Amino acid sequence: MSAQIIDGKRIAAEIREEIKRETESFAAKGVRPGLAVVLVGEDPASQVYVRNKAKACEELGFYSEVHRLSAETTQEELLSLIARLNAQADINGILVQLPLPKHIEEKAVIDAIAVEKDVDGFHPVSVGNLLIGDDALQPCTPSGVIELLKRTGNAPAGKHAVVIGRSNIVGKPVSILLLREHATVTICHSRTPDLPAVVRGADIVVAAVGVPKLVKGDWVKPGAVVIDVGVNRLPDGKLCGDVDYEDVAPVAGWITPVPGGVGPMTITMLMLNTLNSAKAAHGIA
Ligand code: NAD
Repeated sequence: MSAQIIDGKRIAAEIREEIKRETESFAAKGVRPGLAVVLVGEDPASQVYVRNKAKACEELGFYSEVHRLSAETTQEELLSLIARLNAQADINGILVQLPLPKHIEEKAVIDAIAVEKDVDGFHPVSVGNLLIGDDALQPCTPSGVIELLKRTGNAPAGKHAVVIGRSNIVGKPVSILLLREHATVTICHSRTPDLPAVVRGADIVVAAVGVPKLVKGDWVKPGAVVIDVGVNRLPDGKLCGDVDYEDVAPVAGWITPVPGGVGPMTITMLMLNTLNSAKAAHGIA
């Protein structure tokens, strides 16, 4: 037996097609989702991410603005740009590419983004709404994980989900989303004793750790669904996840590859958030 592959590329393409169709249907009403992406400094990885986001906007028929600011930009200058974007009617989503240069306080910047345009889902009000189960723009990688589960017939309801990692970007929000989807959720982290034993109890494993190939085959219950959020660069330049794919695939029921699993979902969910934010701004249900 070998696990069925959860093809994130295919599922992301399917969702993008749905977004594109919905965007086209709004064009007649003069509604066009708009995303502003702000990049401070010249981090090469961030430049790639920003370029990909602008390209996705173009493909889906969104309006987009990319603001490339120098690494010397002051916090005040960045905050005044955000205030301008908050007030701009043609912008429905604002994404400030992280990390920011050290002299800028990340929290001050995230807090300044209008909640209704917080397409990254990192604003404390968005996080609070997520926790209490109110409508909120959901963080992209975690909501991508939920879509992968649902669209492969692995809805979390009634399952035991074990999340490895408790970061604000992935571990915590994906745990809350799994709970909202009626899973029983265990959150593990660097101080969890006997992690393999905890993971062995899982019907769904979500690994968001940042440790290459941490999760082994004998940690996984036969038939379990294994979602690998990790993206790690090996010394030979290849990418690998937090799951030892070769070791786990013969045991699991379903598994995401790295790359091509969770990765393609992140930008797609950003686009979906921008579309939803545009719909809300124009009173479209
Ligand atoms: P992080 O470093 O902020 O958090 C890692 C978490 O793992 C921490 O909560 C820590 O307690 C836990 N941890 C560390 N070592 C552990 C161990 N040995 N056993 C158990 N728990 C341990 O990382 P993050 O931002 O949550 O990212 C995690 C991984 O996901 C990284 O590889 C990152 O590159 C990747 N990531 C991918 C995407 C995507 O779009 N695919 C998006 C975000 C993050």
